[in-house]
Amino acid sequence: MKIYAVGLGPGDMAYLAPGAKEAIKRSDVVVGYTSYIKLIPDLLAGKEAISTGMRSEAKRCQAAIDEALQGKVVSVVCSGDAGVYGMAGLLFELVEARHVEAEVEIEVVPGITAATAAAAVLGSPLTNDFAVISLSDLLTPWEVIEKRLNAAALSDMVVCLYNPQSSKRSDYLSRAVQIVMQYREASTVCGYVRNAFRGESQSERVCTLEALPDEPVDMLTTVIIGNSDTRVIAGKMVTARGYRITDIDEG
Ligand code: SAH
Repeated sequence: MKIYAVGLGPGDMAYLAPGAKEAIKRSDVVVGYTSYIKLIPDLLAGKEAISTGMRSEAKRCQAAIDEALQGKVVSVVCSGDAGVYGMAGLLFELVEARHVEAEVEIEVVPGITAATAAAAVLGSPLTNDFAVISLSDLLTPWEVIEKRLNAAALSDMVVCLYNPQSSKRSDYLSRAVQIVMQYREASTVCGYVRNAFRGESQSERVCTLEALPDEPVDMLTTVIIGNSDTRVIAGKMVTARGYRITDIDEG
């Protein structure tokens, strides 16, 4: 009895891994948030699809485990990577809580996560060390998020922000920027991508740290805050890794 935790990548089917497609093909049942299920209509032919609304991750995972216990092969699909703010971890926790570790095998199938998808659109901002921080305080207290922002900013790591801002949490990005500004120049190069690799709806922009709070950033956006080595090259956001270009020129 098997559950695949499958990352679908950022959206465009060109960036859905062949292994992810294979896992879905092998499944009898596909479980996922409605808008992700809609991304893969061709793969769903002849399969049972279970989709529920946003806030019921646990219900979706429980349903997947129920199906697997009945002997079915199940795929639980997430956007990006299933293990990055996705459902892979929750599946393991629920299988443990239900004491069915011996019956239900979980296989995590990796996908292209929003950080690397957004980075590719912006240029090459993640060339060196970086941190990924979600600004959602639904499951992590805001004090903890602040602590992590401080630590990442202090260490001069590039910082990727997931779940940066919603209508209910309209000041979270500006709060995060205020923290980072304690350690970085106002002119630090930043970028953001909305709907990366989702066709026409994709939009992106390179700006400064200071300008970021006024930009139209929402929950479909990934923000990347550069470090002291991040520059704009040919309109793109690039973090230099420290190669000595003159040496390279001299061979
Ligand atoms: N498992 C997903 C992340 C889920 S958290 C992954 O690995 O990518 C949801 C957040 O991811 C969003 O609020 C947004 O910040 C980011 N995100 C997901 N897909 C995105 C895309 N195509 N473009 C830009 N940001 C995206």
